[in-house]
Amino acid sequence: MSESKAVKERALELLRSGLDFVDTHCHIDGEEYEDDRAAMLERARAAGISALITMGTDLETSRRAASLAAHETMVYAAAGYHPEGIDHVPADDELQAIAALTKEEKVIAIGEIGLDYYWEKDEAVRRIQREAFIRQLRLARELDLPVCIHDREAHGNTFELWKREGKGVRGVLHCYSGSVELAREFVKLGCYIGIDGPLTYKNAAKLPEVAAGIDGSRLLLETDSPYLTPVPYRGKRNEPTYVPLIAAKCAEIRGESLEVFAARARANTRELYGI
Ligand SMILES: [Zn+2]
Repeated sequence: MSESKAVKERALELLRSGLDFVDTHCHIDGEEYEDDRAAMLERARAAGISALITMGTDLETSRRAASLAAHETMVYAAAGYHPEGIDHVPADDELQAIAALTKEEKVIAIGEIGLDYYWEKDEAVRRIQREAFIRQLRLARELDLPVCIHDREAHGNTFELWKREGKGVRGVLHCYSGSVELAREFVKLGCYIGIDGPLTYKNAAKLPEVAAGIDGSRLLLETDSPYLTPVPYRGKRNEPTYVPLIAAKCAEIRGESLEVFAARARANTRELYGI
């Protein structure tokens, strides 16, 4: 058997592991899934994904996420204003609209919020991002809900704001891309660390060190679908179905069995999100 065929067969085997997984961060409200959303969810269920959390990025996508959660048993939602493309600090009524969505039973977090300095180079807009982040951390504290944090090339400011404004807030640093040292500092402040498909890439850089080097009780599994598809499906649209592939890589790096690792990741999800 060729190497690539063996890799694909191993992947298919993992998708039939019979273990219980949650995709703690994805975006399934968009047009990427318009034609096959029901079939995609069915595939995920067959791969052991018992639940997924689809993220809002603004009011409209947060409403769509909430509506999907209301109609699909396995879907939960988060609501919030994402830093990418933000052009003003959310006003009180805009924050109240997000708060109102969280009154729905399956809207369980404030997200996706945070800082993105990779796409945003303008210091004035970065200031808006920081203010929006602060206001949503405060909202999460008021509502007693966990937050899902996006941090792209803004590690220093994200850490500083989480330390200052995140007191008493539970949360996860999603799709973590920093160093293991910084991850440990976040963990000390009570943060979970979300691991995605890039862990399976050959150029995963610092990520394997992070997956191996932080306390296992702080790791969460996520796909960030439709982006960041894990190997061997890289290049295609991502979907929650592929969580076991990320889990298997993580377990391998940590020298743990998939069963043990998956059970702990599942327990961590319950701990943070209550699902
Ligand atoms: Zn995301």
